[in-house]
Amino acid sequence: MQEFLCYDDVLLLPQYSDIRSRAEISLETDLTNNLILPVPIIGSPMDTVSEAPMAIALGIHGGTAIIHRYNTIEIQSRMVSLAHDVAKPLTGTGSIIVGAAIGVTGDYMARALSLVEANATFLCVDVAHGHHINMREALKNLRSEFGDDLHIMAGNVATLEGVNDLADWGANSVRCNIGGGSICSTRVQTGHGVPGLHTLFECAKTDRDVAIIADGGIRNSGDAVKALAAGADAVMCGSLFAGTDETPGKIHEKPDGTRWKIYRGMASKEAQVQWRGRYSSYEGVSAHVPYRGSVKPLLEDFEKGLRSGLSYSGARNISEFCATAKFIRQTSAGQQESGTHIKRRSV
Ligand code: IMP
Repeated sequence: MQEFLCYDDVLLLPQYSDIRSRAEISLETDLTNNLILPVPIIGSPMDTVSEAPMAIALGIHGGTAIIHRYNTIEIQSRMVSLAHDVAKPLTGTGSIIVGAAIGVTGDYMARALSLVEANATFLCVDVAHGHHINMREALKNLRSEFGDDLHIMAGNVATLEGVNDLADWGANSVRCNIGGGSICSTRVQTGHGVPGLHTLFECAKTDRDVAIIADGGIRNSGDAVKALAAGADAVMCGSLFAGTDETPGKIHEKPDGTRWKIYRGMASKEAQVQWRGRYSSYEGVSAHVPYRGSVKPLLEDFEKGLRSGLSYSGARNISEFCATAKFIRQTSAGQQESGTHIKRRSV
């Protein structure tokens, strides 16, 4: 049986660098078909992550967020317009990139039309198992409605065959990873999935003109650096932003004064009951996460980590990085050594 690797199984080999300042490094990524992000970070289309405030914060920072679809068409479309209206005056360029999610059945076409009308920069066809006949039909219908110019992201898949099929059916970028998200229980529930880093090694072998999105399981900038080295064009994150001011939902307080917010999988029992009034197979969990204030300092630190990561491989941009990065395996002792491991003593 083939061995499939996770983020913690590997490290990147430090290499000679002639980069004197991290400002020399560009994090810009071309996701194909008119979608260029100055910073390769995307907020997940989840109801505890991405509504207008997250789209504004990420958009201003040079990334993007995908406004989730668990809402009426009118409310979701209003969120897209609001993100543009609030952020435009605040950016030098006068515009931000705002994505919006749709499904593959029911009202998805009416939703897509309304979101494009509201100025969504791109659509994300958002389903758990994207390598599916419903996806093929939806992408075909979306392409005949919108033509070739609109950027369409789709997913999720975990195989090269999945990426190639979605690209052939009309997707410009594909979310890759099944079962690797922090709140995901797909692998426990169904026994299916592929370790996240290996998914990227496989999916990045595509010969189609399609961008690879490393979706889920990114816990820190180090994981994101490994994902880009493995061939991802951008990373999509949920838990990384969870608990911040810009996420939807109330701030709760425990009797001891600790504050928290909810972060949950869209296939969790709780999310299904809220949005559909019932649940079927649930493949996600709901978690209480610490309240963390504004997302802005987190984004700044994350971006600094990415720049530093590229500089350790002597690379000035993402494609150079992907071409020069060298992975090495680490043992379980290496994994322990790689984390901070000071023995704290009371003084
Ligand atoms: P995280 O960044 O590790 O927290 O993972 C976020 C990603 O998990 C999302 O972008 C989705 O691809 C995925 N996801 C969201 N909700 C669920 C769920 O309920 N089950 C499985 N995967 C999910």
